[in-house]
Amino acid sequence: MNPLLEKFDTPFETAPFDRIANEHFLPAVKEAIQLAKEEIARIKEERLPDFTNTVVALENSGEKLSRVASIFFNLNAAETNDTIQKLAREISPLLSAHGNDVLLDEELFDRIRQVYQQKEQLHLSTEEDRLLEKTYKSFLRNGALLNAAGKERLREIDQQLSQLGLRFGENVLQETNAFELVITEEKDLEGLPEGVVEAATQTAEEKGKAGSWVFTLAFPSYVPFMTYANNRELRKQLFMAYTTKAAKGDALDNQEIIKEIVRLKDERARLLDYPNYAAFVLEERMAGDGMQVLEFLHDLLEKARPKALAEMEELEAFARERDGLEKLQKWDVNFYAEKLKMKKYEVDDELLKPYFELNRTIDGVFLTAEKLYGIRFEKNSSIPVYHPDVTAYEVKDEQGAHLAVFYADFFPRAGKRNGAWMTVYRGQKRQQGNEQRPHVSIVCNFTKPTKTKPSLLTFNEVTTLFHEFGHALHGMLANGTFESLSGTNVYWDFVELPSQIFENWCYEKDCLDLFARHYETGAPIPQQLIEKIKKAANFHQGYQTVRQISLGLLDMAYYTTDPTSIDDIFAFEREVMKPTELLEPIPGSLMSTSFSHIFQGGYAAGYYSYKWAEVLDADAFELFLEKGIFDPETARSFKENILAMGGQEHPEILYKRFRGRGPETTALLKRAGLLA
Ligand SMILES: [Zn+2]
Repeated sequence: MNPLLEKFDTPFETAPFDRIANEHFLPAVKEAIQLAKEEIARIKEERLPDFTNTVVALENSGEKLSRVASIFFNLNAAETNDTIQKLAREISPLLSAHGNDVLLDEELFDRIRQVYQQKEQLHLSTEEDRLLEKTYKSFLRNGALLNAAGKERLREIDQQLSQLGLRFGENVLQETNAFELVITEEKDLEGLPEGVVEAATQTAEEKGKAGSWVFTLAFPSYVPFMTYANNRELRKQLFMAYTTKAAKGDALDNQEIIKEIVRLKDERARLLDYPNYAAFVLEERMAGDGMQVLEFLHDLLEKARPKALAEMEELEAFARERDGLEKLQKWDVNFYAEKLKMKKYEVDDELLKPYFELNRTIDGVFLTAEKLYGIRFEKNSSIPVYHPDVTAYEVKDEQGAHLAVFYADFFPRAGKRNGAWMTVYRGQKRQQGNEQRPHVSIVCNFTKPTKTKPSLLTFNEVTTLFHEFGHALHGMLANGTFESLSGTNVYWDFVELPSQIFENWCYEKDCLDLFARHYETGAPIPQQLIEKIKKAANFHQGYQTVRQISLGLLDMAYYTTDPTSIDDIFAFEREVMKPTELLEPIPGSLMSTSFSHIFQGGYAAGYYSYKWAEVLDADAFELFLEKGIFDPETARSFKENILAMGGQEHPEILYKRFRGRGPETTALLKRAGLLA
């Protein structure tokens, strides 16, 4: 028997991790795809298509498949091994082929179109209307209305794009791996923290260069070197290597690939009747069309630039005074910024960590959620978990009724990928009167406690925990009918609102007083330390903002410009970035050729959303600041209008219902100290 294919007889029908073995996955996926195909075949057997027998039936089809796939891919991220990775290479193509089969099914589309055309007579609820719209659009956006030749071309483009994206990424990776800075003189290590030197010793050993120290362009090596290494010439070398990745005109150069990607995306958009690729992407975003996004970015730039310039001037003066530097260069920014920040705020991780013992902090997160939304967390050891480090909780609502299952997986392991994320094992929905409550998880990489030493979090880790927990609340408090419109299934530039807003609480005394106590003395975190955290968080906000905007503008430029007019990538980038340059540009360096977010990842015409989400979270949190960070009425409104609603309505409408108006940038500018 394959436990994945049986009905889960675990508490709350949670994934039966204690019985799943690797060999169960592939047969389960194949069987579940077959089941999904049969469900779709039945939809096509209905005599007359209507909303329920077609659109809702399609929405509810493939339930087994989505459960099996979510278990598999969540494990591949949190507890993987060679077998699972090998399976992933087999399973992923099966799933995308199945997904394509559905979206290219002409008979199925024809039925959906018939329902869509009767839309006005169907008297659908807002939520139902949204599901119909979303379903119909997903077929359209995949070329359902094109003639045979058009469909064929679209498939070709998609294939080429996926190959080009891979090549782009491979070139960046090869360039990253090819470079090494080998240090043989101990004096060249001056300024570097012990841990960084240790890591460089190890890298040297791994590369067969024992006795020296090797630094690479990988983030954990590059960033500390640029931040701490006293040797300016070596910082320059590393910086030049970093910013000329895939831009040296050799076999690993990405410039032609960029032109090809931009051209194909433009063609794809035009084929589907959009003026450009940005218009295609932004159709399903909150921020509006390309013009509105550009306006948003330029408006922020105008406000942030004076502050950013002043910051650079201050930094240059500091560097001059400290080391007699004549002119601040790009490879000096991290280095002097770190020193200046220390001088101004004297706040570092070691000072803060004793106040953020992991278990206390988790309790603090739970308590914050309880104070806001009345929900409670109870450890439940009868729920199976996939690793002994994982803790499962039952979450109950204000009335004590079952709300969700919550898994917490905090410590690094060999099989876990880097970073922190929230994920879902089962979404929320209502089907034929049955309520299905969600199973959500957060996965992080915090330092594990030892017998003698507790896990003490850096402040950055504390905000990470709050961030992921904010996503988890979005999942757990979901209250909708359709899974694909529930919880975190919202427009891309809206999904970070619940997570980012939750970070704001950990800068507030009333919240910190709930949990931030010294792990040895029990003393609460001093007020002046909280003030310092806040001030330090605003350090170089002008510079950071301008930097994010410059990437947002570059992204938008690639996907709104006629691609035939882009022939010199260097010239194009320089022109677009000109209004955002704070220091003199360095000849030969280029951002575009390693801008994987927009050429390989899914951020094409979407990079602006980092800033957009900040605008939303600052603006929304301002209401809490006005009314009180635990004000029950404001919390209720945020829960009912935002968290519970998922993607049931357009985010603009949901936001206005909570805020009483559309989003404004003032709160963010105020928070970041960018208001004159
Ligand atoms: Zn997030």
